[in-house]
Amino acid sequence: MKVLVLNCGSSSVKYQLFNMEDRFVLAKGQVDRIGMKGAVLSHTRHDDHKVKMAGEIIDHQAAIEYILAILISENHGVIEEREEIDAVGHRVVHGGEKFKDSVLITRDVVDNLQEFIDLAPLHNPHNIKGIRACHQLLADVPMVAVFDTAFHSNMPDYAYLYGLPYILYKRYSIRRYGFHGTSHYYVSRRARDLMEQDMEDLKIITCHLGNGCSITAVDGGASIDTSMGFTPVEGLLMGTRSGDIDPALVLHLLAKEELSVGDMNTLLNKHSGLQGVSGVSNDMREIIDAVEEEGNERARIALDIFTYRLKKYIGAYTATLGGLDALVFTGGIGENSPEVRERSTEGLGHLGIEIDQEKNYETMGVEGDITSEDARVNTYVIPTNEELVIAIDTEKIVKEETELA
Ligand code: ADP
Repeated sequence: MKVLVLNCGSSSVKYQLFNMEDRFVLAKGQVDRIGMKGAVLSHTRHDDHKVKMAGEIIDHQAAIEYILAILISENHGVIEEREEIDAVGHRVVHGGEKFKDSVLITRDVVDNLQEFIDLAPLHNPHNIKGIRACHQLLADVPMVAVFDTAFHSNMPDYAYLYGLPYILYKRYSIRRYGFHGTSHYYVSRRARDLMEQDMEDLKIITCHLGNGCSITAVDGGASIDTSMGFTPVEGLLMGTRSGDIDPALVLHLLAKEELSVGDMNTLLNKHSGLQGVSGVSNDMREIIDAVEEEGNERARIALDIFTYRLKKYIGAYTATLGGLDALVFTGGIGENSPEVRERSTEGLGHLGIEIDQEKNYETMGVEGDITSEDARVNTYVIPTNEELVIAIDTEKIVKEETELA
């Protein structure tokens, strides 16, 4: 079976085409700047043949049309015709309380997703655009939605409810949902494989540190708590998001700065985090360079907030799990930054966490065990692979549906 995995953002579509027999990635790439000047498709074939094409790409449907065209093109393609694509797996950010698992996309499912736009206004509309575009372009090909929220959907109520009037939960579904679920799921399973133990016996903390950052406590294979909440703004400090703040601060700022609700949203999502604190960059590489090479004081504060808060959550989740077997770092920062891994685990020997700095500084962008010899807890760097999880779920659900039919 060949599965096309799509991740549709506001102005980008990322794709990977899998051959599921050997889980081989035939081609991958992304279209950027959709609807803007200078839209471009970057495509990489399995033999590392790369091509970049600029063009006018006015919307998500045009982007997906472009992707399908390159997948079948004589010079850059990997299949002969669109019909070779057996299924499409869509990354969908928010599944609300309804979708606790991946699901075959039907008209009803799309209607439900439409209802959740309120919950994820920055993400779900683009995911829906991608689904509708595929329906136009690949009419009979089955599609599956894989949700960022699903892995966290079985958290206990005391972890997902806020201390707000309960009626607001009932009225508006206001609760913590959590995100990055596919990534936390993948790396926790991979850690289990590396440890060669049963998932049921393991307590794992997974740190997904990319542009967005979240940390999850995984007990016996299930997410029991995660740092992102009703929206992806809660929790750790991120590239441009604030993470945890005193909620009353929002009211104070609305009044002081005479901000609109939209301005406040932009402030919390786009002008805060590493960028907002440092004034240097939202990119961890540039923050670390500014600290180490220029002694930039605000970059130092941003890095300290980032790693201090991460450490605080590692401690909190070790407590809620009642012990810890493995700590996992993933995402662009988690996979590539030994500095962040060192700073966020410094002094955690009393929890059994201790990393070997030589191994830590040798492990960048690859899988590795960076545990020091005396540590009780294994610490791993595991490159995430959300696309593979989406492809596997898509194949499974489409196969089940065909067997039922
Ligand atoms: P996204 O969340 O958009 O998928 P990524 O997982 O690719 O993002 O992570 C992007 C982050 O990874 C950026 O903050 C970038 O600075 C960081 N990053 C990438 N390489 C390194 C590195 N060598 N050292 C530190 N940070 C890195």
